[in-house]
Amino acid sequence: MAPSAAAASPLVIPLFLAHQGCPHRCVFCNQYSITGQAGGAQLAAGVVAETIDTWLARPRRLADRPVQVAFYGGSFTGLAPDTQAELLQAVAPYLVRGEVATIRLSTRPDYVTAATVAFLRDHGVGVVELGVQSLDEAVLAASRRGHGVEAVARAFRELKAGGFAVGGQLMVGLPGDSARSALASARALAALGPDFVRIYPALVIRGSELARSYAAGGYRPLTLARAVALTARLKAVFDRHHIPVVRMGLQAADSLARDLVAGPFHPAFGELVLSRLLFRQARRLLAALPAGAPRVLVASPADQSILRGPGNASLARLAALGLADGLELSFDPAQPRHTLRLATAP
Ligand code: SF4
Repeated sequence: MAPSAAAASPLVIPLFLAHQGCPHRCVFCNQYSITGQAGGAQLAAGVVAETIDTWLARPRRLADRPVQVAFYGGSFTGLAPDTQAELLQAVAPYLVRGEVATIRLSTRPDYVTAATVAFLRDHGVGVVELGVQSLDEAVLAASRRGHGVEAVARAFRELKAGGFAVGGQLMVGLPGDSARSALASARALAALGPDFVRIYPALVIRGSELARSYAAGGYRPLTLARAVALTARLKAVFDRHHIPVVRMGLQAADSLARDLVAGPFHPAFGELVLSRLLFRQARRLLAALPAGAPRVLVASPADQSILRGPGNASLARLAALGLADGLELSFDPAQPRHTLRLATAP
Protein backbone atom coordinates (compact mmCIF):
# COMPACT_ATOMS: atom_id res chain seq x y z
CA MET A 1 0.00 0.00 0.00
CA ALA A 2 1.33 3.45 -0.80
CA PRO A 3 1.88 5.92 1.99
CA SER A 4 -1.04 8.22 2.49
CA ALA A 5 -0.69 11.57 0.87
CA ALA A 6 1.30 14.48 1.87
CA ALA A 7 -0.55 15.73 4.96
CA ALA A 8 2.40 15.13 7.27
CA SER A 9 5.11 15.01 4.62
CA PRO A 10 7.95 17.34 5.53
CA LEU A 11 9.16 20.33 3.59
CA VAL A 12 12.62 19.13 2.57
CA ILE A 13 15.45 21.65 2.24
CA PRO A 14 18.02 19.90 0.04
CA LEU A 15 21.78 20.37 0.36
CA PHE A 16 24.13 18.56 -1.98
CA LEU A 17 27.46 17.11 -0.88
CA ALA A 18 28.67 16.43 -4.44
CA HIS A 19 30.22 13.09 -3.46
CA GLN A 20 32.18 14.52 -0.56
CA GLY A 21 33.17 11.79 1.82
CA CYS A 22 33.34 8.92 -0.63
CA PRO A 23 36.66 7.41 -1.69
CA HIS A 24 34.96 4.42 -3.35
CA ARG A 25 34.37 3.56 -6.99
CA CYS A 26 31.12 1.63 -7.30
CA VAL A 27 30.81 0.49 -10.91
CA PHE A 28 27.60 2.44 -11.56
CA CYS A 29 28.86 5.74 -10.11
CA ASN A 30 30.71 8.38 -12.11
CA GLN A 31 31.76 10.66 -9.30
CA TYR A 32 35.31 10.88 -10.67
CA SER A 33 34.20 11.93 -14.13
CA ILE A 34 31.97 14.62 -12.64
CA THR A 35 34.47 16.12 -10.26
CA GLY A 36 37.75 15.09 -11.87
CA GLN A 37 38.89 13.99 -8.43
CA ALA A 38 37.47 12.50 -5.28
CA GLY A 39 35.74 15.26 -3.39
CA GLY A 40 34.95 18.17 -5.69
CA ALA A 41 33.40 21.43 -4.51
CA GLN A 42 32.95 21.32 -0.75
CA LEU A 43 29.67 22.27 0.85
CA ALA A 44 30.43 25.01 3.37
CA ALA A 45 28.61 25.70 6.63
CA GLY A 46 27.83 29.24 5.38
CA VAL A 47 26.04 27.82 2.36
CA VAL A 48 24.01 25.56 4.66
CA ALA A 49 22.70 28.54 6.66
CA GLU A 50 22.09 30.63 3.53
CA THR A 51 20.14 27.85 1.88
CA ILE A 52 17.99 27.26 4.96
CA ASP A 53 17.28 31.01 5.28
CA THR A 54 16.25 31.19 1.62
CA TRP A 55 13.86 28.27 1.93
CA LEU A 56 12.35 29.43 5.21
CA ALA A 57 11.69 32.88 3.73
CA ARG A 58 9.57 31.45 0.90
CA PRO A 59 5.80 31.57 1.30
CA ARG A 60 4.48 28.12 2.21
CA ARG A 61 1.12 26.66 1.30
CA LEU A 62 1.05 24.46 4.41
CA ALA A 63 2.71 26.55 7.09
CA ASP A 64 2.63 23.76 9.67
CA ARG A 65 4.53 21.21 7.57
CA PRO A 66 7.58 20.06 9.52
CA VAL A 67 10.84 21.20 7.94
CA GLN A 68 13.62 18.72 7.27
CA VAL A 69 17.16 19.61 6.20
CA ALA A 70 18.53 16.88 3.92
CA PHE A 71 22.16 16.30 3.00
CA TYR A 72 22.05 14.43 -0.29
CA GLY A 73 24.81 12.76 -2.28
CA GLY A 74 28.13 11.45 -1.08
CA SER A 75 28.51 9.58 2.18
CA PHE A 76 27.98 12.01 5.02
CA THR A 77 29.54 9.88 7.73
CA GLY A 78 32.63 9.39 5.56
CA LEU A 79 33.42 13.11 5.82
CA ALA A 80 36.14 14.24 8.20
CA PRO A 81 34.61 14.43 11.71
CA ASP A 82 35.26 18.19 11.86
CA THR A 83 33.42 18.73 8.59
CA GLN A 84 30.47 16.64 9.75
CA ALA A 85 30.29 18.63 12.98
CA GLU A 86 30.59 21.96 11.15
CA LEU A 87 27.76 21.15 8.74
CA LEU A 88 25.47 19.83 11.46
CA GLN A 89 26.25 22.74 13.78
CA ALA A 90 25.18 25.10 10.99
CA VAL A 91 21.70 23.57 11.27
CA ALA A 92 21.66 23.54 15.10
CA PRO A 93 20.30 27.09 15.65
CA TYR A 94 17.30 26.32 13.42
CA LEU A 95 16.63 23.15 15.41
CA VAL A 96 16.84 25.06 18.68
CA ARG A 97 14.40 27.71 17.40
CA GLY A 98 12.04 25.00 16.14
CA GLU A 99 12.30 26.24 12.56
CA VAL A 100 13.73 22.90 11.45
CA ALA A 101 12.30 19.68 12.89
CA THR A 102 14.99 17.23 11.90
CA ILE A 103 18.02 16.47 9.74
CA ARG A 104 18.26 13.72 7.18
CA LEU A 105 21.36 12.38 5.51
CA SER A 106 22.52 9.49 3.40
CA THR A 107 25.57 7.31 3.75
CA ARG A 108 27.11 3.92 3.10
CA PRO A 109 26.28 1.03 5.43
CA ASP A 110 29.96 0.41 6.23
CA TYR A 111 30.32 4.00 7.44
CA VAL A 112 27.91 3.46 10.33
CA THR A 113 29.34 2.56 13.73
CA ALA A 114 28.07 2.87 17.30
CA ALA A 115 30.14 6.07 17.61
CA THR A 116 28.62 7.48 14.40
CA VAL A 117 25.14 6.77 15.68
CA ALA A 118 25.79 8.58 18.98
CA PHE A 119 27.35 11.54 17.14
CA LEU A 120 24.43 11.88 14.71
CA ARG A 121 21.85 11.61 17.47
CA ASP A 122 23.61 14.32 19.48
CA HIS A 123 23.48 16.62 16.44
CA GLY A 124 19.77 16.42 15.70
CA VAL A 125 19.81 13.88 12.86
CA GLY A 126 16.56 11.92 12.73
CA VAL A 127 16.60 10.12 9.40
CA VAL A 128 19.45 8.15 7.83
CA GLU A 129 19.21 6.70 4.36
CA LEU A 130 21.52 3.81 3.51
CA GLY A 131 22.72 3.03 0.00
CA VAL A 132 22.10 -0.71 0.20
CA GLN A 133 21.75 -1.44 -3.55
CA SER A 134 21.71 -5.23 -3.09
CA LEU A 135 21.77 -7.84 -0.37
CA ASP A 136 23.46 -10.44 -2.57
CA GLU A 137 27.16 -10.92 -1.83
CA ALA A 138 28.01 -11.65 -5.47
CA VAL A 139 26.17 -8.57 -6.74
CA LEU A 140 27.80 -6.35 -4.11
CA ALA A 141 31.20 -7.70 -5.10
CA ALA A 142 30.56 -7.34 -8.85
CA SER A 143 29.39 -3.77 -8.24
CA ARG A 144 32.56 -3.08 -6.22
CA ARG A 145 30.64 -1.71 -3.30
CA GLY A 146 33.48 -2.50 -0.96
CA HIS A 147 31.32 -4.11 1.74
CA GLY A 148 29.19 -7.19 2.16
CA VAL A 149 25.70 -8.02 3.39
CA GLU A 150 26.66 -8.14 7.08
CA ALA A 151 27.68 -4.46 6.98
CA VAL A 152 24.13 -3.58 5.91
CA ALA A 153 22.51 -5.66 8.63
CA ARG A 154 24.83 -4.17 11.25
CA ALA A 155 24.14 -0.60 10.11
CA PHE A 156 20.40 -1.19 10.34
CA ARG A 157 20.76 -2.67 13.82
CA GLU A 158 22.88 0.25 15.06
CA LEU A 159 20.65 2.93 13.57
CA LYS A 160 17.38 1.41 14.68
CA ALA A 161 18.73 0.87 18.19
CA GLY A 162 19.69 4.57 18.12
CA GLY A 163 16.08 5.53 17.39
CA PHE A 164 16.59 6.77 13.81
CA ALA A 165 14.15 6.42 10.96
CA VAL A 166 16.14 4.35 8.47
CA GLY A 167 15.66 4.24 4.72
CA GLY A 168 17.17 1.79 2.26
CA GLN A 169 17.97 2.25 -1.41
CA LEU A 170 17.96 -0.76 -3.74
CA MET A 171 19.07 -1.01 -7.36
CA VAL A 172 17.88 -3.49 -9.96
CA GLY A 173 19.95 -4.56 -12.94
CA LEU A 174 23.40 -4.37 -11.35
CA PRO A 175 26.14 -6.65 -12.71
CA GLY A 176 25.45 -10.23 -11.66
CA ASP A 177 21.90 -9.36 -10.58
CA SER A 178 18.84 -11.32 -11.69
CA ALA A 179 15.13 -11.18 -10.96
CA ARG A 180 15.66 -13.89 -8.37
CA SER A 181 18.51 -12.10 -6.56
CA ALA A 182 16.75 -8.73 -6.73
CA LEU A 183 13.63 -10.23 -5.17
CA ALA A 184 15.71 -11.98 -2.52
CA SER A 185 17.39 -8.63 -1.77
CA ALA A 186 13.99 -6.97 -1.41
CA ARG A 187 12.81 -9.65 0.98
CA ALA A 188 16.05 -9.43 2.98
CA LEU A 189 15.80 -5.64 3.14
CA ALA A 190 12.16 -5.83 4.24
CA ALA A 191 13.26 -8.18 7.04
CA LEU A 192 15.63 -5.47 8.30
CA GLY A 193 12.60 -3.24 8.92
CA PRO A 194 13.35 -0.07 6.93
CA ASP A 195 11.00 2.85 7.50
CA PHE A 196 10.99 3.60 3.77
CA VAL A 197 12.64 2.41 0.59
CA ARG A 198 13.72 3.80 -2.78
CA ILE A 199 14.25 1.59 -5.83
CA TYR A 200 16.36 2.64 -8.79
CA PRO A 201 17.21 0.82 -12.01
CA ALA A 202 20.95 0.70 -12.72
CA LEU A 203 21.86 3.11 -15.52
CA VAL A 204 24.99 3.37 -17.61
CA ILE A 205 26.48 6.77 -16.78
CA ARG A 206 29.33 8.30 -18.75
CA GLY A 207 32.65 7.92 -16.96
CA SER A 208 31.56 4.96 -14.82
CA GLU A 209 33.01 1.47 -14.86
CA LEU A 210 29.66 0.25 -16.19
CA ALA A 211 30.05 2.57 -19.20
CA ARG A 212 33.42 1.01 -19.98
CA SER A 213 32.00 -2.49 -19.61
CA TYR A 214 28.96 -1.59 -21.72
CA ALA A 215 31.18 -0.20 -24.48
CA ALA A 216 33.26 -3.38 -24.42
CA GLY A 217 30.14 -5.51 -24.77
CA GLY A 218 30.30 -6.83 -21.21
CA TYR A 219 27.47 -5.21 -19.23
CA ARG A 220 23.95 -5.16 -20.61
CA PRO A 221 21.44 -2.93 -18.82
CA LEU A 222 17.84 -3.97 -18.26
CA THR A 223 15.35 -2.88 -20.89
CA LEU A 224 12.80 -0.36 -19.68
CA ALA A 225 10.03 -2.99 -19.77
CA ARG A 226 12.05 -5.45 -17.68
CA ALA A 227 13.13 -2.77 -15.20
CA VAL A 228 9.51 -1.67 -14.73
CA ALA A 229 8.29 -5.25 -14.32
CA LEU A 230 11.02 -6.14 -11.84
CA THR A 231 10.61 -2.94 -9.83
CA ALA A 232 6.87 -3.67 -9.63
CA ARG A 233 7.65 -7.09 -8.15
CA LEU A 234 10.00 -5.53 -5.60
CA LYS A 235 7.45 -2.90 -4.68
CA ALA A 236 4.88 -5.63 -4.12
CA VAL A 237 7.28 -7.21 -1.59
CA PHE A 238 7.47 -3.95 0.38
CA ASP A 239 3.72 -3.38 0.05
CA ARG A 240 3.13 -6.74 1.70
CA HIS A 241 5.27 -5.57 4.64
CA HIS A 242 3.58 -2.13 4.71
CA ILE A 243 6.91 -0.45 4.02
CA PRO A 244 6.47 2.74 1.97
CA VAL A 245 8.38 2.90 -1.32
CA VAL A 246 8.86 6.64 -1.53
CA ARG A 247 10.56 6.80 -4.93
CA MET A 248 11.12 4.56 -7.94
CA GLY A 249 13.49 5.73 -10.68
CA LEU A 250 15.86 8.67 -10.79
CA GLN A 251 14.63 12.19 -11.15
CA ALA A 252 15.27 13.79 -14.53
CA ALA A 253 18.19 16.19 -14.19
CA ASP A 254 20.40 18.10 -16.62
CA SER A 255 23.46 16.13 -15.50
CA LEU A 256 21.66 12.85 -16.14
CA ALA A 257 20.53 13.97 -19.59
CA ARG A 258 24.15 14.87 -20.37
CA ASP A 259 25.76 11.73 -18.96
CA LEU A 260 23.24 8.95 -19.62
CA VAL A 261 24.78 6.42 -22.01
CA ALA A 262 22.22 3.61 -21.84
CA GLY A 263 19.76 1.94 -19.53
CA PRO A 264 16.13 2.03 -18.47
CA PHE A 265 15.69 5.72 -17.69
CA HIS A 266 12.20 7.18 -17.98
CA PRO A 267 11.18 10.52 -16.44
CA ALA A 268 7.97 8.92 -15.11
CA PHE A 269 9.48 5.55 -14.18
CA GLY A 270 7.54 5.36 -10.91
CA GLU A 271 4.23 5.97 -12.70
CA LEU A 272 5.02 3.16 -15.13
CA VAL A 273 5.57 0.83 -12.18
CA LEU A 274 2.36 1.92 -10.47
CA SER A 275 0.47 1.46 -13.76
CA ARG A 276 1.77 -2.05 -14.04
CA LEU A 277 0.70 -2.87 -10.48
CA LEU A 278 -2.79 -1.43 -11.01
CA PHE A 279 -3.08 -3.31 -14.30
CA ARG A 280 -2.32 -6.55 -12.50
CA GLN A 281 -4.94 -5.79 -9.85
CA ALA A 282 -7.50 -4.98 -12.55
CA ARG A 283 -6.69 -8.17 -14.46
CA ARG A 284 -7.08 -10.28 -11.33
CA LEU A 285 -10.40 -8.70 -10.31
CA LEU A 286 -11.91 -8.82 -13.80
CA ALA A 287 -10.73 -12.35 -14.56
CA ALA A 288 -12.50 -13.63 -11.42
CA LEU A 289 -15.87 -12.15 -12.45
CA PRO A 290 -18.50 -14.56 -13.75
CA ALA A 291 -19.63 -14.00 -17.36
CA GLY A 292 -22.32 -11.36 -17.64
CA ALA A 293 -21.55 -9.70 -14.28
CA PRO A 294 -21.29 -5.90 -14.27
CA ARG A 295 -17.72 -4.77 -14.83
CA VAL A 296 -17.19 -1.56 -12.91
CA LEU A 297 -13.70 -0.88 -11.54
CA VAL A 298 -13.46 1.71 -8.79
CA ALA A 299 -10.24 3.68 -8.26
CA SER A 300 -9.13 6.86 -6.56
CA PRO A 301 -9.60 9.91 -8.83
CA ALA A 302 -5.88 10.63 -8.32
CA ASP A 303 -5.08 7.27 -9.96
CA GLN A 304 -7.01 7.87 -13.15
CA SER A 305 -3.97 8.22 -15.42
CA ILE A 306 -2.00 5.36 -13.89
CA LEU A 307 -5.04 3.07 -14.15
CA ARG A 308 -5.40 3.86 -17.84
CA GLY A 309 -1.64 3.52 -18.35
CA PRO A 310 0.50 5.57 -20.72
CA GLY A 311 -1.58 6.25 -23.84
CA ASN A 312 -4.38 4.03 -22.40
CA ALA A 313 -2.01 1.04 -22.74
CA SER A 314 -3.40 -0.77 -19.68
CA LEU A 315 -6.98 -0.54 -20.97
CA ALA A 316 -5.79 -1.80 -24.35
CA ARG A 317 -4.09 -4.77 -22.67
CA LEU A 318 -7.26 -5.61 -20.72
CA ALA A 319 -9.18 -5.46 -24.00
CA ALA A 320 -6.64 -7.74 -25.68
CA LEU A 321 -7.19 -10.24 -22.85
CA GLY A 322 -10.96 -10.09 -23.42
CA LEU A 323 -11.49 -8.47 -19.99
CA ALA A 324 -12.71 -5.04 -21.06
CA ASP A 325 -16.10 -5.84 -22.64
CA GLY A 326 -18.63 -3.55 -20.96
CA LEU A 327 -15.92 -2.28 -18.61
CA GLU A 328 -16.69 0.98 -16.82
CA LEU A 329 -14.30 2.98 -14.69
CA SER A 330 -15.56 4.80 -11.64
CA PHE A 331 -13.56 7.18 -9.45
CA ASP A 332 -14.27 7.49 -5.76
CA PRO A 333 -12.25 9.80 -3.48
CA ALA A 334 -12.77 7.27 -0.65
CA GLN A 335 -10.89 4.54 -2.53
CA PRO A 336 -7.32 4.31 -1.14
CA ARG A 337 -4.57 5.32 -3.58
CA HIS A 338 -3.11 2.56 -5.73
CA THR A 339 -5.93 0.13 -4.99
CA LEU A 340 -8.96 -1.02 -6.97
CA ARG A 341 -12.26 -2.63 -6.12
CA LEU A 342 -15.22 -3.83 -8.11
CA ALA A 343 -18.42 -1.83 -7.63
CA THR A 344 -21.08 -3.96 -6.03
CA ALA A 345 -24.34 -4.29 -7.92
CA PRO A 346 -26.88 -1.55 -7.01
S1 SF4 B 1 29.41 4.81 -2.32
FE1 SF4 B 1 28.02 6.20 -3.39
S2 SF4 B 1 29.20 8.03 -3.91
FE2 SF4 B 1 30.66 6.40 -3.37
S3 SF4 B 1 31.24 5.49 -5.34
FE3 SF4 B 1 29.56 4.28 -4.50
S4 SF4 B 1 27.69 5.20 -5.36
FE4 SF4 B 1 29.37 6.67 -5.69
